[in-house]
Amino acid sequence: MGHATYDKDVVMLGLFNIFNKKPLVPHLKDFDPVIQQIEDPDQVVIPLNYLGRIRYVATVKVGDPVRRGQIIARSRIGNCVCATINGTVKDISTVWTAQSFHSPAIIIENNGDQSMVSEAVLDGAVATDDVEVAMNRLRSAGVTPPWSLSGREYDDTDKEISALPPVETVIITGVRPEDTMLTSQLLLEQNCDKVADGLKRIRELLPGARICLTAPEHLKSLSDSTFSHLADIYIPPEHYAGRIEREVVTQILGRRIPSRESYRYHGVAVLDVEYLLAMVDALDGRSPFIQKCLTISGPNIDTAVTVRFPMGSSIKHVLDSQGLKVSDFTRPVVGGAMTGFAQYSELTPLTYNSGLFLIDEKIVPFDTIAPCINCGKCTQVCPMNIQVHMINRMIEFGQLESAKELHPEACYECGLCADVCPAERPIVQLFHFCNHEMVHGERHNWTTGDATL
Ligand code: SF4
Ligand code: SF4
Repeated sequence: MGHATYDKDVVMLGLFNIFNKKPLVPHLKDFDPVIQQIEDPDQVVIPLNYLGRIRYVATVKVGDPVRRGQIIARSRIGNCVCATINGTVKDISTVWTAQSFHSPAIIIENNGDQSMVSEAVLDGAVATDDVEVAMNRLRSAGVTPPWSLSGREYDDTDKEISALPPVETVIITGVRPEDTMLTSQLLLEQNCDKVADGLKRIRELLPGARICLTAPEHLKSLSDSTFSHLADIYIPPEHYAGRIEREVVTQILGRRIPSRESYRYHGVAVLDVEYLLAMVDALDGRSPFIQKCLTISGPNIDTAVTVRFPMGSSIKHVLDSQGLKVSDFTRPVVGGAMTGFAQYSELTPLTYNSGLFLIDEKIVPFDTIAPCINCGKCTQVCPMNIQVHMINRMIEFGQLESAKELHPEACYECGLCADVCPAERPIVQLFHFCNHEMVHGERHNWTTGDATL
């Protein structure tokens, strides 16, 4: 029987890491406050399925010419996806997404035309006094209105908007839980007037709703002076555990919405400041939502940089723009270091993602999951107070029915348990597997155009 050969140094380093306490939750050393505009790539890949949120059906076909901002896919209730570059539809096929699942996608090949969105794409500004007109504009501009449910939840339950409770609280997030993602706070700080304008529009669209804006500590006085007449300002704690979105929402509401339940079913809408700005652009007829901001950071990156890119650009394209190469890193993680998804291809498209965290440390891939040493650290740190060590061992050994009794569905995958685990067990992955099996209970096989939303 053959057996694997091991590099002794690598194994020793791995063992050392097990007992050596890791620094908690990665922080940025420094960052560039300027958001850099990235050029159009040769092609964009635009996924049509956003698990748990929305599914689109292509409204274009292979060979069609498309221009930036043109609607290329639509959901059953009229939410749209727009082309993010000028070009030709090269293919509509299944791709692997940054959220780790397969999805049908529209692939657009750049035709070299750099011209920006023309006014005609959105046909002028719309006022907010007619809510239905404003909502339709937001949908057709690719800004999913946060106060309506979208996508799969309609698919699963067939509920209509009128069946939902009215929105009583809107929370605009001007700070992201992980401080390796700077998009919200940079946009908040650099677009004060437009954010104020967006808050006014929300007030017009949702009269009577409580509007809250979260901001980082260092923008407290700016927020108080600029936005406090338009929204309640909430400054989350500086540490990650207190800034996790569900924790912030709990603090603002004074009650907890169960982890697996949509905010919207509880009369709450949560949207990032970047969506608020996109909403203003859409209502003013300036531009559909086709570009996204994202912060590139990592332990070996001295100055984090935030870029704005056409959605559907590949990881490679975004990194190339900064002179970075995926091969220089162990693994790119899309999202934050605590909650992101490790990527296995530099061609994976980036869409509604706010962070790209580049890991550059020696990671020792153990053949098996290291045994739990019962230290209890995971359970101690869990904000949901669940029996993390018990549940993750049950899942590991396939005892899903027993695990279910201990409510693994309360986990919202914040990653704090894995961060403190001295055995570096894949706790979040085990919970994810368990909850995916229990909540979704299915896997989808996609063929082009089979979506019905
Ligand atoms: S990821 Fe871990 S710490 Fe976070 S909620 Fe789930 S079990 Fe608790
Ligand atoms: S899973 Fe990790 S942190 Fe939790 S008890 Fe076991 S060894 Fe400790």
